Amino acid sequence: MMRYRFFFLTSLAVELFFPMHYMRAECKEESSYRQYNEGTAEHVKLFYQLNHKHQTLDFVLEKKREYLSLQRKRMDIWEAVDLFDQLVDESDSDLDLPQRYHLFQTAEMLRQDGHPRWLILTGFIHDLGKILALYGEPQWAVVGDTFPLGCAFAQQIVFSEYFEQNPDLQVPLYQTRDGIYSPGCGLDHLHMSWGHDEYLYHVVKDFLPIEALYIIRYHSFYSAHREGAYEHFMNEQDKKMLPWLQLFSRYDLYSKCPEKLDLDALLPYYQELVDEFFPSALSW
Ligand code: FE
Ligand code: FE
Repeated sequence: MMRYRFFFLTSLAVELFFPMHYMRAECKEESSYRQYNEGTAEHVKLFYQLNHKHQTLDFVLEKKREYLSLQRKRMDIWEAVDLFDQLVDESDSDLDLPQRYHLFQTAEMLRQDGHPRWLILTGFIHDLGKILALYGEPQWAVVGDTFPLGCAFAQQIVFSEYFEQNPDLQVPLYQTRDGIYSPGCGLDHLHMSWGHDEYLYHVVKDFLPIEALYIIRYHSFYSAHREGAYEHFMNEQDKKMLPWLQLFSRYDLYSKCPEKLDLDALLPYYQELVDEFFPSALSW
C-alpha cells in the first residue's frame, strides 16, 4: 500500500512538473485497459457526460458541413504529426507519453508482428484527426468512443446512462432501433458522432486501401467492433471489414506502453512509408 501510494504521489508530482514526459514502470495487464465503471477517473466521466449530452444528429450534420469540404489547411502528414503532439486526450486514461508516441508505438507493434505496410501506416496516422481540438473543437467533439445518431443509443456504448440529457432522446423516431436508417444499410450510411475518425477518413480517403480507410473511420466505434452492437445496420462489406477493426483495436490499445522508442532512429522508415502512399500536401 505504501509503495503504491509512493508511486502514485511520485507520478503525480512528475506529471505536474513535467507533464506527459514520464513513463510507466511497466505495461498494464490487457484487462486493465478501457476500464469504464464506478472507479473511472472523474475527468473521464465528465468527458463522457458532455459527449453524450451534446452529440446530436443536428450537431453532427453541422460539423460535417463545417469540416468535410477540407478547406481549412494544406499540409503534409508530418506537419499534422507536429500539431498532434500538442494535444491532450481527456478521454484516454491509458496513455501518459507525448501523443506522437502513440502513433509510433501502434505502428511499431504492427511492424514487429509482420503486418503489411498499409496497416503499419494506418497505425501511424490513425489518430491525426485529433488535431480538430486545435481548431477549437471541445474534447467531446474530437475524442472518445463514437456511435451513430438518428437511431436508438445502444446499451453497449460506454456510460450509456449519460444519454439521459441528450436532446435527441425527445425525438421518437431517433429512439427506434432503425431510426432514420434501414436495416443492412451499411455503416457508411450512418451519421456517426463527430470526432477524429470521420474527419481523418475524409482527409486520406483517396490514398489508402479500403481496409485502412475502414479502420480509420470506425476505430472508435467500440460498441460495434468490441461489443457487437449495431450489427443490424451492417452489410456484407462491413462484415468483411469487421475483423480488421478488431485486429487493429488490439494494437491501438495494448501498444500504450512505456517502451522507450528511439523516434529519431525510426524516422527514415516512416518517412519512406508516408511518401509511398501520400502526396506532399493534403487538404485538411
Ligand atoms: Fe483514435
Ligand atoms: Fe489511437
